[in-house]
Amino acid sequence: MAIITLGTMAFDAIETPFGKIDKIIGGSATYVAYAASQLATPIQQISIIGSDFPEEELNALKGRGVQLDGVEIVKDKKSFFWSGKYHLDMNTRDTLITDLNVLADFEPKVPEQYQGSEFLMLGNLMPSLQINVINQLRKRPELIVLDTMNFWMESALEDLKKVLTMIDVLMINDSEARQLSNEYSLVKASKKILSMGPKFLIIKKGEHGALLFHEDHVFFAPALPLEEVFDPTGAGDTFAGGFIGHLAHTKNISFENMKTAIIVGSAMASFCVEKFGPQRLKEITKKDIDKRLKEFVQLVNFDIDVV
Ligand code: AMP
Repeated sequence: MAIITLGTMAFDAIETPFGKIDKIIGGSATYVAYAASQLATPIQQISIIGSDFPEEELNALKGRGVQLDGVEIVKDKKSFFWSGKYHLDMNTRDTLITDLNVLADFEPKVPEQYQGSEFLMLGNLMPSLQINVINQLRKRPELIVLDTMNFWMESALEDLKKVLTMIDVLMINDSEARQLSNEYSLVKASKKILSMGPKFLIIKKGEHGALLFHEDHVFFAPALPLEEVFDPTGAGDTFAGGFIGHLAHTKNISFENMKTAIIVGSAMASFCVEKFGPQRLKEITKKDIDKRLKEFVQLVNFDIDVV
């Protein structure tokens, strides 16, 4: 099962209460690709980079089954650059710099060999580009998942509302769900958002796990309580990669299987936060992932006698 992924491939500068790094590989599509390729291949990447993006990083992705035919390389221009600083609670951060660079003129092109793929992961990016990619696909994928952020709710709401009518699963965090719906209650927010188009809604609550809404059903997956969270950058994208990777691997897009998929997404995200950038995602093996999934089962497994 092939997964097409759209998003940024970037350089990031990150500061957390535990350390600082001036330049590390990042970007929404990079994290999605590292996480999803642990579970399913090929990953068919669509992005744009400058000639400064390291060759060895591209080769590392290729080595994991990530196809890069849809990644445009612009000569003599710089890759997208993002810089952020985390607050002490690590759940909130300030964006310090967003240099669009090559992203400013990005016109995604879906390569011919990506046509017919079953899964589409629209990573965080301008909603108009997400629409553009959907429109280029001659056969609609079986599942379209979309990640977005408050920035697009403020600057491109009309396009965002349009793309919501074209997708199956929306992933946002709790403050974004409140902003999009104008509702404080996440249950009320979910009803409003589901009426905007998506059939499934995932609301991420950082270290407090994630909620999955579908029709009148709701499922909650915890986040693993970790002793140390080093750098949360990319955790949301990693969660998305783990989620869609599991669905593609099992070839099953039912609500029941999505419950497992959000646990897999949470497990992958729990690795991501252990080191700067996607470093930890590059190190882990299938054995590490299985071990962590068992820890999740232990976390929520209990017997109860109904009285
Ligand atoms: P996350 O922590 O999951 O929100 O993702 C962080 C990654 O998203 C970083 O590696 C950034 O390079 C990338 N990023 C930051 N801002 C944007 C944006 N406006 N559009 C697309 N990608 C972004």
